[in-house]
Amino acid sequence: MDPLRRQAYLQALGIPAFTRRESGQAESAVVEEVGAAAAAGAAEELAQHPGRPVADSGGAVELAGLDWLSLQERASECRACGLHEGRTQAVFSAGNPQADLMIIGEAPGADEDRLGEPFVGRAGQLLTAMLRAIGLMREQVCITNVVKCRPPGNRNPHLEEIAACRGFLQRQIALVEPRLILALGAVSAHALLDSDEPVGRLRRRTHAYGESAIPLRVSYHPAYLLRRPAEKAKAWEDLQQVAGLLG
Ligand code: SF4
Repeated sequence: MDPLRRQAYLQALGIPAFTRRESGQAESAVVEEVGAAAAAGAAEELAQHPGRPVADSGGAVELAGLDWLSLQERASECRACGLHEGRTQAVFSAGNPQADLMIIGEAPGADEDRLGEPFVGRAGQLLTAMLRAIGLMREQVCITNVVKCRPPGNRNPHLEEIAACRGFLQRQIALVEPRLILALGAVSAHALLDSDEPVGRLRRRTHAYGESAIPLRVSYHPAYLLRRPAEKAKAWEDLQQVAGLLG
């Protein structure tokens, strides 16, 4: 990507300074540390987990043979957890279902619920801009969420809801067969890695997802970055790593 265009993107993102790496990928740039880093385990938007009885997902076995469109249709009709009650529609995915990079957030918000597409609100616009800054168009990646229906009041999804929706996500990943997964935010990272470590400790490492050991990186959710702009430099670092792994 043209360096000036990249710089313009980064300035628009509120990431104030970067330097070009002298070796390695010609396209890569490295963010200079800007100001003091916030606490490593910055309080993430991890869910409160009040118990809530829900139906079983019917999960991976039932969904195992479905292709992408059939899976999407099944999600649109799904009532396996209480989130179906408040949704306008299930929000299945955006982008390319054969992408090398699969980006997984936590849940649809109000804009996503209305438009039927993940990451289209302010957080989505930030994500799109950050992808552009590493030379990726939104249409080139596959974007989805851990749960497909909007939690009321934009709360985090409960553990039971994540479990109920797990079969859809597992089947999506199996169909996409991404070369790399990027988990955005604590809810996504914890669901995919079965971990409770804060994002600040999970990022900067390459994890392995599932039996296929798909490489998985963790970064901050764009909604969190909107609340904590000082963390954007770290997220930019993470995206640089993602770009490097994709080659
Ligand atoms: S969130 Fe997932 S499991 Fe719950 S109703 Fe929606 S599609 Fe079904």
